[in-house]
This record gives sequence, structure tokens and C-alpha cells, in this order.
Amino acid sequence: MPQYRYADVGINLTDPVFQGEYYGKKHHEDDTNHVLQRAISIGCTKFMVTGSDLKESKKAIELAEKYSGRCYATVGVHPCSAKIFDFHPGGPSQLLQELEDLAVDAKKRGLATAFGEIGLDYDRLMLTGKDQQLKYFEAQLDIAVKVQLPLFLHSRAAGEDFERLLASRLPDLPRKGLVHSFTGTVEEMKRLVALGLDVGVNGCSMKTEENLEVVKKIPLEHLQVETDGPWCEMRASHASAKYKEDAPSLPHSVKKEKWNKDSMVKGRNESATIAHVAHIIAKVKGIPTTKVCEAAWKNSIQMFGFGETLEDQAL
Ligand SMILES: [Zn+2]
Repeated sequence: MPQYRYADVGINLTDPVFQGEYYGKKHHEDDTNHVLQRAISIGCTKFMVTGSDLKESKKAIELAEKYSGRCYATVGVHPCSAKIFDFHPGGPSQLLQELEDLAVDAKKRGLATAFGEIGLDYDRLMLTGKDQQLKYFEAQLDIAVKVQLPLFLHSRAAGEDFERLLASRLPDLPRKGLVHSFTGTVEEMKRLVALGLDVGVNGCSMKTEENLEVVKKIPLEHLQVETDGPWCEMRASHASAKYKEDAPSLPHSVKKEKWNKDSMVKGRNESATIAHVAHIIAKVKGIPTTKVCEAAWKNSIQMFGFGETLEDQAL
């Protein structure tokens, strides 16, 4: 029996690398099922698959259908892709309508548990300009309120705009939302928590000493854990590395050229590594890992459901 339980609330299982395709080249068969099994064997039993545009959201829903009771989808357009609204056949209002219809239907079928990934990214304005990001973040927030799905949010260097647009909608969203892959300041974190939002921590959230100071201060009642696989792998050069010493051992990993179904692939992060994320958060906070896991699980179930209820579980 696994010692802890986890929900990986940010996992990009629609990425081609989980079908064995790296930079357009096929290296091995689709091993999504093995990726999920490795995570399940360490206690990670729920997965929220990120949708980043209409096509990817549909793919995420297909995975939620295929791995029913394990995988759940988000529906939305990522800020860096928000320019696609202007190129959509039928125009932006048509795409907004298609997203809404998709979210309504997938929510009804228990497959979509969040609206996102939406937000603002002012670090990568070359991908989509500020005006478009703002316009379509706002429009998508209005859909989330209409559909009544909690938010799966992305924010980079957008502080005031991000909080301003959220503040006016959150009163109408009882389950609020999660700011995933958080890398902001302590002050920013505190303001988001004051708005009722949760903060998602992964390997990218613990790269620097400043990051760790923020993680230390995230209240347990507003913490969720994720991997953001295949991205955000923890590296030896990160500030988090010094807490790895007595971390639980991870499944063996090999280069993609040596792929086999029982190994992780070097450089491709996956949900089984969530054990290390939780371990390091616990070390940084100076509390037992079980406290981190139970708090994050409770927060994730409360916000996203994942077919669970908290009443029938001893917490
Ligand atoms: Zn993100």
C-alpha cells in the first residue's frame, strides 16, 4: 500500500512525448497507461490533464473518457495561444461558443473539472500580445462563471492585471481556482490567497532560494501539488536539490532511445515524480510529508471533485 495519496492537478498528457514522439520523431509506443500505472503505484490516483486550446482540450477530454475515474480534463485557451481567437474560422465569438459548448458537455459527463489553462503571460508577449491576452482572458473568465467550473490559471509577470480581472469574477465562482506552477513573490502569493485562490507547486516553483521562501509561506489550506509533466522536472542545479537526500526513490529512468515500458524517460517529467515535489515542500516547510499530502489532496478534491467526496475519507 502506498504511504501517501496525491492528485497531480497539472499534467500535460496530451503532449506527443507520451505517445513516444519527441521533436516530431517517433521513438517508442504510446505509454500513457504505464505512466499512469507508475504514478498509481506510489499513491497518485487522480490526474487533471491540461487543455491549452480547443484541440488540446478535446484531446484531454478523450483521455478523461479513456481513463475514466483517473483522468479529468481542463477546457480553455492558454494566454500564449490566445491569438488563435482572431484566426478562428467564424471569428473569436465562434471559438468562445465552441469552448463553452465543450465545457458544458464535458462537465455534464463528469469529464471536465476546471476551466483553463487561462490567464496572462507578460514574459512571452512575442507569442500573443497584451491586448489579445487581456481580451480573451476576460472573455474566458465569463464563460467559466457561466459554466460554473473552477479555474486552472497561469500567471507570469502580469500581477495587477491578473488580480484585477479575477477579483471581479471570483465572487461568482464558489470553488474559485488554482494558480498553477506558481513562481511569483510572497506578496503576490498572499494577495492570490486572499482572493480565495489556491497555489499550485511543481518543480518550476522551487528552482531558486526565493522560490523556496515563497513555498515555505504558502498556507497549507491553499496548497496543491502538481508535476506539470513532461515539463518542470527538478534538476540538480535547482535550489530544491539540497532537500532531495532522503527523498523516496523514484522509478528507474532511461534515455528515450532505450525506452522500455517499465522505466521513466530521462528529461520527460511524469506524475510519479510528484512524490519528490511533496517531499521537498515538506522539507522546506519543516513538517511531515503526510501533512503536505493530506492538505493538498483535500484542497484538490474540494475544488475539482475528481469523483471523490471528502466525507467518506478519514482525514
Ligand atoms: Zn502554465
